[in-house]
Amino acid sequence: MAKSQFEKEIEKLERSGVISRAQFLQIMAAAGAFMALGTNKAYAAKSSTKGRIVIIGGGAAGISMASRLKRAIKNPDITIIDPSDRHFYQPGFTLISSGVYKADEVWKPQADCMPSDVKWVKDVATLVDPAKCWVETAKNGKIEYDYLVLVPGLQINWDKVEGISKETLGAGNAHSIYDFEGAQRTWPAMKAFGEKGGRGIFCDTYTKHKCGGAPKKVCLLSWDNARKNDNLDKISMHYYTGSKQLYNVPHFTPRLEEIYRERNIPVDVNVRLKGIDTAAKRAYFERVVTAEDGTKSYIPFNEDYDFMHFMAPQSAPDFVRESGLSWREGSLAADGWAEVDKHTLIHALYPNIICFGDCAGIPTSKTSAAIRKQLPIAVENLVATMEGHAPQAIYNGYAACPIVTDYGHVIMAEFDYDKKEQITFPLSLFDMSKERWIAWVLKVYGLKPIYFNLMLNGLY
Ligand SMILES: Cc1cc2nc3c(=O)[nH]c(=O)nc-3n(C[C@H](O)[C@H](O)[C@H](O)COP(=O)(O)OP(=O)(O)OC[C@H]3O[C@@H](n4cnc5c(N)ncnc54)[C@H](O)[C@@H]3O)c2cc1C
Repeated sequence: MAKSQFEKEIEKLERSGVISRAQFLQIMAAAGAFMALGTNKAYAAKSSTKGRIVIIGGGAAGISMASRLKRAIKNPDITIIDPSDRHFYQPGFTLISSGVYKADEVWKPQADCMPSDVKWVKDVATLVDPAKCWVETAKNGKIEYDYLVLVPGLQINWDKVEGISKETLGAGNAHSIYDFEGAQRTWPAMKAFGEKGGRGIFCDTYTKHKCGGAPKKVCLLSWDNARKNDNLDKISMHYYTGSKQLYNVPHFTPRLEEIYRERNIPVDVNVRLKGIDTAAKRAYFERVVTAEDGTKSYIPFNEDYDFMHFMAPQSAPDFVRESGLSWREGSLAADGWAEVDKHTLIHALYPNIICFGDCAGIPTSKTSAAIRKQLPIAVENLVATMEGHAPQAIYNGYAACPIVTDYGHVIMAEFDYDKKEQITFPLSLFDMSKERWIAWVLKVYGLKPIYFNLMLNGLY
């Protein structure tokens, strides 16, 4: 019989000598018990509600939503619109870029992820008319709905970094793991940086973006590659952030900042990447300085590098704004994030539209860990709406970001809308404000099989 992916993961773990099979299974059992208690609603009595449900996007949110709706509603009428051939476990991109995963370990054919009895329209949604309740598609015309689940993820605006393009990522040794190919090209470059040394610069971006931890992880793993090669005296590193501080969750920030200090990696705040001259290996930034009266000035500067990792600005997909579904004012309006109630996840103007995941304009971190907790809320509130009841389920803003600090340790940052830590059992047995080996084991060996085997099947 063919071995399951999960079995292969356990074997790899045993071979690495990091942990025994028995230890691993104990951790997973404890984690699984918690998950079952904490998030997995049984839906013993399925709703008999009727209505055409259209889901835009078959990513982490869309596939797991369809699977859960099948558990919550008798004979649901669900259509998923998504053009992709492959379904990516994007948190694995960081581990590809650091040589921990092979590229083929992080994706499955989209056809294998689609729940049975769900209609899959393999196409791109180009517009929504929320008043007339239809979705325009590129090739399949208009698709009508009674209820819309808006989960198309986000759009990376590569063109907002002058001098680079998605197709040529890696040119001039300037890399970005926010792309599957880009993540693959990063590993040889990170490895060479560890072996030869040089000037390494790392940055994030000024818009809201998915997994704010990822650029920090690339920076710290690059440092650890140099450490493993005994080359710390041959490197100099710098981290630039578009934010006011490196990380803003009080329980976890002090240790993370301390790690950067211990490793002699200066952190510059309020800095935006404008462009990269890949031929000259020179990055162009501007520093945003805010005067006491609130006026801003932008001071340009540039930096030469040998190895660079960057992130491009991000926004909701264009069609969300063009469909009149984006925030109309406030800080979330500029980048088109969908205007949804942060607690019920229901659209502010259209009660038959629910939106969560990366596209949603809610003040939490854009991660699949957040989606895991948004999912039961979205299902419950959609079913309530379909049954003619007021939505009652409340999302508290939970998000998690496993910040890999070296090969073997992770700060498992978990928090809510108030930036208050929300530590998950059984990890609460440890002081999780610090980097932990157990969180590394969970990140590298546990979360991917949980994602593909449980979350996408609506079981977690
Ligand atoms: C480098 C990196 C590291 C990350 N690390 C972590 C981590 O450690 N932990 C964590 O929890 N999360 C992490 N994330 C974030 C996580 O992957 C995302 O938050 C999550 O995938 C978002 O799910 P989603 O369903 O909203 O969007 P996606 O999973 O991106 O799916 C969107 C889907 O919509 C489809 N789509 C887009 N536009 C259209 C359209 N117009 N019509 C139809 N379909 C459309 C796409 O084809 C896609 O299938 C990371 C992400 C990256 C890139």
